[in-house]
Amino acid sequence: METPLTPAEPMLWSGWGDPAKAAELPAPVRDLLAELLGVRAPAAPAATFGEVRLPPAALPPPVLAALAAIVGDEHVRADDDARIRHTRGKSTPDLLLMRAGDASDAPDAVVLPGSHDEVAAALRLCAEHRVAVVPFGGGTSVVGGLVAARPGFAGVVALDLARLNRLVSVDSVSMVAELEPGLRAPQAEQLLAAHGLTLGHFPQSYEYATLGGFAAARSSGQASAGYGRFDDMVAGMTVATPRGTLEIGRAPRSAAGPDLRQVFLGSEGAFGVITSLRLRVRRAPAVRTYEGWRFATFAEGTAAMRRLAQQEGPPPTVLRLSDETETMVGLAKPTDLGAAGRDSGCLLVAGFEGSPGDVAYRRDRAAAVLVEAGGVHLGPEPGDKWAQGRFSAPYLRDSLLAAGATVETLETACFWSNLPRLYDAVRLALLGALGSPLVMCHISHVYATGASLYFTVVTAQTGDPLGQWAAAKRAANEAIVQAGGTISHHHGVGRDHREAYAAEIGDLGGEILRGIKERLDPAGILNPGVLIP
Ligand SMILES: Cc1cc2nc3c(=O)[nH]c(=O)nc-3n(C[C@H](O)[C@H](O)[C@H](O)COP(=O)(O)OP(=O)(O)OC[C@H]3O[C@@H](n4cnc5c(N)ncnc54)[C@H](O)[C@@H]3O)c2cc1C
Repeated sequence: METPLTPAEPMLWSGWGDPAKAAELPAPVRDLLAELLGVRAPAAPAATFGEVRLPPAALPPPVLAALAAIVGDEHVRADDDARIRHTRGKSTPDLLLMRAGDASDAPDAVVLPGSHDEVAAALRLCAEHRVAVVPFGGGTSVVGGLVAARPGFAGVVALDLARLNRLVSVDSVSMVAELEPGLRAPQAEQLLAAHGLTLGHFPQSYEYATLGGFAAARSSGQASAGYGRFDDMVAGMTVATPRGTLEIGRAPRSAAGPDLRQVFLGSEGAFGVITSLRLRVRRAPAVRTYEGWRFATFAEGTAAMRRLAQQEGPPPTVLRLSDETETMVGLAKPTDLGAAGRDSGCLLVAGFEGSPGDVAYRRDRAAAVLVEAGGVHLGPEPGDKWAQGRFSAPYLRDSLLAAGATVETLETACFWSNLPRLYDAVRLALLGALGSPLVMCHISHVYATGASLYFTVVTAQTGDPLGQWAAAKRAANEAIVQAGGTISHHHGVGRDHREAYAAEIGDLGGEILRGIKERLDPAGILNPGVLIP
């Protein structure tokens, strides 16, 4: 067993990330947002920590005492700080509510188990007392995956898995490592690096999200073209449910019936708590190189991406294409945003990680395809710029919210043949719902058969920014469903996508999920209101 070298520092309670990295919005950008989008400073400043309104804690004291008997007194917390920090996730509506001082969805207590057996015992106890349980990883859900429906329950606890943070074992023959779910991604990478290994999972939430959250929400990282999605990495897992424990996955592939891993991957805490993960690992790359290519249009760039995804042999590790608007905004420095030309084309970033020989080989192959598809090589600068800023955008979101702009992202995926239709449908829906927002898009997860579209929207806040975004999100969801996309490629379902997910899987699909839920969690305590239609 190896434990992390770096402690998991708490995240900013009302926004994203490390408070020390908060980014002020430069004055020229604020002026430009006012001019282009009509952004005005919000009427009221954000609430301070002391102003946050918390509902009284509802958990019966004997239940709290019994939980403390399982995990230890010091690992049950019902103080304001713990409750506020475990309220909801980090979507823009979550942040808007927090900035307004609304912690009405706070759990009554936070329980931190230290082992699988403690998780299992806590679940049994909560089932007996009808206490809802929200498994809590990094708290970075952007789809309402951390808000339990209270009605019918004696209380709500957040089951924070931060103490399950060990590297249990490394099987370097099979290239499988067993890791606990509460490890944040950088901690897991540090532990694996000591063995010369990596997971290669780098989502934008990398700094704070955990391995358990990645599996439970089917996450996909920025290097998914090379390393695959997180669910592809899961060779096996241990899951605690109110009915007992499951050990799943004993071979790389199996024909022994349906793959039960798939029941828990993407289950968002509604079926059980993942307490251990056996993950495929890779050798840490000796070389990392990222470079830029320019395409005249998004359509041309998309065709190039498809050719790369469908070619024989390994694709680039990172593959990312911005549409015209995202390219224009990304190329512009904060001070000359207004002067950026409209003919910037579309930026494609291709990145390669591996041994020097492997990188050189894949780079040459990709370059041949990209040149043939009409790409112009821009060299390493755009790639390096992307790599340096790859985790910084969420910090900017806080500054934009403070300035009176709403910025939010949403994503979907479909087959290549349908991609242009889906792109147009979502853009039109957002433009129609918000008037004149800035709508940017990129493709960053590709497969032989299709790809994901990731939209970023910036708009001036109205007096009711929550209602404004809810209407836009509804319109986008409808457009996604109608245009044949999936409601989520990697953020998951949570509460926010439940309706659209129900439409996607149909009545019988919903029945299957309810059947599984009833078997594993008869009292319905696990994340009620999340995922299951
Ligand atoms: C700024 C930002 C950028 C993001 N970028 C990306 C991205 O690039 N790619 C991507 O895929 N996602 C991204 N996300 C979404 C989010 O980071 C992922 O959904 C991630 O997988 C959540 O991990 P977490 O540890 O924070 O889980 P949490 O948010 O704590 O939990 C997510 C869900 O899983 C459940 N859960 C957590 N741990 C367990 C467990 N051990 N067992 C059972 N259920 C569990 C929770 O109850 C919840 O329903 C981003 C989010 C933010 C805020």
